[in-house]
Amino acid sequence: MKKKPTLSDIMNNQHQALYAALSARDRKFDGRFFVGVSSTGIYCRPVCSARTPKSENCTFYPSAAAAELAGFRPCLKCRPELAPGLALIDLGNRYAQVAVQLIEQGYLSEHSCEQLAIRLGISDRHLRRIFAEQFGASPIDYAQSHRLLQAKRLLADTDLPLSEVAFAAGFGSLRRFNELFKARYRLIPSVLRSTAGRHEQAASSGLVFHLGYRPPYDWPRMFGFLQARAVIGVESVIGQQYWRSIAVNQGGIEYQGWICVQPEESRNRVRVEISSSLSRVTTEVLRRIRQLFDLDAAPDRIVDALGDLAADAPGLRLPGCVNSFEQAARAVLGQLVSVKMAATFASRMTERWGVALEQPYGNVTHLFPDAACVAQLQPEELRLSGIQLKRAAALIAVARAVIEGRLQLDNVLDIEQGILELTTLPGIGSWTANYIAMRAWSWPDVFLSGDYLIKQRFPGMAPRQIERYAERWRPWRSYATLHLWHNERWAPSPDTKVTTIE
Ligand SMILES: [Zn+2]
Repeated sequence: MKKKPTLSDIMNNQHQALYAALSARDRKFDGRFFVGVSSTGIYCRPVCSARTPKSENCTFYPSAAAAELAGFRPCLKCRPELAPGLALIDLGNRYAQVAVQLIEQGYLSEHSCEQLAIRLGISDRHLRRIFAEQFGASPIDYAQSHRLLQAKRLLADTDLPLSEVAFAAGFGSLRRFNELFKARYRLIPSVLRSTAGRHEQAASSGLVFHLGYRPPYDWPRMFGFLQARAVIGVESVIGQQYWRSIAVNQGGIEYQGWICVQPEESRNRVRVEISSSLSRVTTEVLRRIRQLFDLDAAPDRIVDALGDLAADAPGLRLPGCVNSFEQAARAVLGQLVSVKMAATFASRMTERWGVALEQPYGNVTHLFPDAACVAQLQPEELRLSGIQLKRAAALIAVARAVIEGRLQLDNVLDIEQGILELTTLPGIGSWTANYIAMRAWSWPDVFLSGDYLIKQRFPGMAPRQIERYAERWRPWRSYATLHLWHNERWAPSPDTKVTTIE
């Protein structure tokens, strides 16, 4: 019987094309494949600055996990753990997307692969097949590679003791960490630490990391977007530095602290500083930063699909969030008011009900009130902050639905269904639900057809016609929405008159 080709086989059938991308150090392929080099036993990112290996020594892999399974060790120079992840839509299969999200959140540290499959509503076999097809590795292998790479990052970039590194990377015990590290990397952790060289010291008492992205990246627009919406006490934008508070709940413990994110454009990466209070949840904090800054996006694909709409800002990113409830609350507060007003409401709520950080930093002093807190409020109390009664009731309804387990705001599997469920809550209309999908779930294909500014861009067209026009931008309609907001000069192409008249 003929063996079905694996994803690695398929990739190596494109050997020439991938080798050309490798030789050119083409940044748009960073994180999309890894190359194992037989002469050294090392695997690299396509952007590695080391001399390009001979073609006959290269084997290509769809994930770091697949390269490790084939016996390759990660390169200490290009550091595979710094590569951007795959854009959501890249992982064509939504099950794979949510499974990866859950694995990166540490789900498999406390659950079995079977439980992960149940969580997704599919069979264990189906889940394994999806992973083999997408990553060339099983969910367990994927999780182990992820943990090891996080540990490698912590060894290279921090002075944390080994036991802390093991814990923060998601290993149950130091022994397990040492064993797997030695088996996969054929190195002991302390040796890696000593060869990693001196790492960057934080100006404060925090930890410093780096996260890669695929250029171009439109930093002025990202910072402009965040600055216009900054919530006093929670966020602070100073030049090209973004500061904010963050809380991560892991294993029943809430870790609170702050982060600071700053682009290093010449190296296509961001510098991230996080407070030492978050050291045990570094992996999750970095994952959320990737989501907030849309670091896994593949701009070349988006620009290809959006054409002239994206031409003037090819590096535009979709701002995400670090806390889905906070983002949902801010979407509700933004209903029918200006961006500035929405930020004012959120700032007042923070001042009144926000939790003070034990170790504040500069202007970052509080956490936005969480769902448990908002669920206990009465609409009249929120009205004292200037928030309209109906909107206050909607906000409380969202918080209560989350607390009572009726509403899922994290790891939403079926986006359409999730949007529908949101709109069953009082005061949550289509705009709010779609905006939550766009920002809190980082869904790339939401089109805000009912948005005031979007309607202005299509003079004389009915919402249905606008929606039909936007079909051409699938599966990147969230990015189309952002471009339309920014791009005042854009006008629909004239041919649409013909196709939209019925
Ligand atoms: Zn390398």
